[in-house]
Amino acid sequence: MNYQDFKENIIKADDIIIFSHVNPDGDTLGSMIALYLIIKNNYKKEPVMVVAGEIPDIYCFLPQIDKAVTFDKIEKDRVFDLAIAIDVAAKDRMGAGVPIFDRAKVKMNIDHHKTNNGYGDYALICPDACSAGEILFDMFESLKFPIDKDTADALYTSILTDTGGFRYDNTTAKSFRIAAKLVECGINAGEIARYCFETKAKQMVLLQANALINAEFFENQKIVCTCITNSDMEHFNAKEDYTEGIVGTLRQIKTTEVAAVLKEVTSQSTKVSLRSKNVDVSKIAGAFNGGGHIFAAGCTIQKPIKIAKEKLVEEIKKYL
Ligand code: AMP
Ligand code: MN
Ligand code: MN
Repeated sequence: MNYQDFKENIIKADDIIIFSHVNPDGDTLGSMIALYLIIKNNYKKEPVMVVAGEIPDIYCFLPQIDKAVTFDKIEKDRVFDLAIAIDVAAKDRMGAGVPIFDRAKVKMNIDHHKTNNGYGDYALICPDACSAGEILFDMFESLKFPIDKDTADALYTSILTDTGGFRYDNTTAKSFRIAAKLVECGINAGEIARYCFETKAKQMVLLQANALINAEFFENQKIVCTCITNSDMEHFNAKEDYTEGIVGTLRQIKTTEVAAVLKEVTSQSTKVSLRSKNVDVSKIAGAFNGGGHIFAAGCTIQKPIKIAKEKLVEEIKKYL
């Protein structure tokens, strides 16, 4: 897809829907809002924004986030003229939204995951972009859409969170250049960073402390993993997003090559988050039908958490 295809399809469509991914993060939410604002401000059309599940509290500062709805709010059988998936590595990461996406007359897929297979009628996949927000910034600039403060807040949140605060290897000169331009649009970089990185519920910190203390080490401490069960979640009265960040802390350990957090979904299903320093974890996730980036990837293993852990550790060993 080129930028002109984007523009022409927006002009043609009356009824537009924007999809974020399950377990929404700052990139998918920030990019969804930036798209919404650009379409609203420039074409006087108001797209529907959908989220699969609860929005983490830390992102409630994002402009217009209260306009986002869950799938149950969308009439059954409604056919949209245009569906846009943003930061959605694989179609099934839209969760319950897949049938709505499939029914749309035109399907668009804008993403930066290298494992994205280009689903949809139009795909704009840029694996070198640090975030979906970076792809959108380039496109908006090239199409000469004015970027107001709210749009800048949303795009900055995308870039800031997906680069881990400009610390990960996906941070490039371009990421900083875009960030500088967004600061010139009037955003408060310090304030956004405080919302994204410096604000945690007490129960989140306690759940994380518990997960860290229970970490297990394999292969001379090159592999580290921890398991979070539903009973842990209940014990700490935790929301879904309270596990966010644990895997990054495990990666900080000097000896770590691959860090994994396993989270019980049901007695037969386990969600896995992977991070590494050198190993391509998107391949490990791929072995379980997941995907992602080189140093950050994920998958869901259809096994009880203990068995999932054993299978995962065996798979990771192959890549050390
Ligand atoms: P997470 O550990 O959930 O933060 O995910 C790390 C990265 O991998 C993110 O960029 C996700 O979008 C991606 N990812 C996670 N799970 C999957 C999956 N099942 N399929 C493809 N990509 C995934
Ligand atoms: Mn994301
Ligand atoms: Mn992203």
